[in-house]
Amino acid sequence: MAITLEQAKGLRHGDVLHHNTDRNADGTCQRWRVASEVKTWKNDASRVQISIRWGLKTWGVLTEKDLGIVHPASECTRLK
Ligand SMILES: [Zn+2]
Repeated sequence: MAITLEQAKGLRHGDVLHHNTDRNADGTCQRWRVASEVKTWKNDASRVQISIRWGLKTWGVLTEKDLGIVHPASECTRLK
């Protein structure tokens, strides 16, 4: 599973993504929360940058190259 570039651009602060392979101790998907507005580039529509947060204080950045490692919470096949 993955999110598309268009889905990535449509994310909003506070939306939740699930990691495709990292699991919580109970087997549910690790939840990554969108931590700010999604950054896009007017002169390069192929780019996107998403600040994300997981756990209490771990931050990271997803770019268009990372869209294959997450899926939208709403499309999760491991319900919960
Ligand atoms: Zn999931």
